[in-house]
Amino acid sequence: GFVAFEGGDGAGKTTQLDLLESWFQEQAVPYERTREPGGTAIGERIRSLVLEHDQGEIDPRTEALLFAASRAAHVVQRIEPALEAGRFVLCDRYVDSSVAYQGEGRELGTEAVAAINGFATGGLQPDLTVLLDLDPAAARARREGRAGRSDRIESAEDAFHDRLRHAFLTRAEAAPGRYLVLEASGPAQELHTQIRARVQELLGQ
Ligand code: C5P
Ligand code: MG
Repeated sequence: GFVAFEGGDGAGKTTQLDLLESWFQEQAVPYERTREPGGTAIGERIRSLVLEHDQGEIDPRTEALLFAASRAAHVVQRIEPALEAGRFVLCDRYVDSSVAYQGEGRELGTEAVAAINGFATGGLQPDLTVLLDLDPAAARARREGRAGRSDRIESAEDAFHDRLRHAFLTRAEAAPGRYLVLEASGPAQELHTQIRARVQELLGQ
């Protein structure tokens, strides 16, 4: 099973990944947790290139291709081998993040970005995508409450994040069977219970 977590910055992906990971450990489900951009040595280098403030402005196409390159390495080196070995894969962001951030946010067009990612992934899709949907003002409040400096993209204005939110929801509406869309302002434990129910279906429980 391949489960991706998607949503804007501050939606609570990390919290939900932590909760699901703990449950997998309790249940002794073999799994790997990974993230994008990143997840491989080359992917982590691309992550730094794209996200560090001192890189200066990166044009949108270069940014989209770098994220797609990170993802290509991730699929081949990490996700497919794990799935073939019978391990569950829990991934923090996948193609939908690119469609939202680069396609909509950076105005490259969602179809163009979906196309380069189809190439990058060889068409590999998650069995389930959990979309944590949160109002941009609430998401910003959460980001401001956490330690460390925001990265280049997190610091963008609410209007940018609002467009991303719309793009994520549009992706989910196009393939409802593969998505679990959750209103992410609720208590973390309640969200986890809903996520777990869907994951248990994938596990055949
Ligand atoms: O989720 P995480 O904080 O690790 O993501 C790192 C950064 O990369 C975030 O600022 C996110 O907004 C950005 N990002 C992006 N395009 C993607 C994936 C992530 O701009 N395709
Ligand atoms: Mg972040």
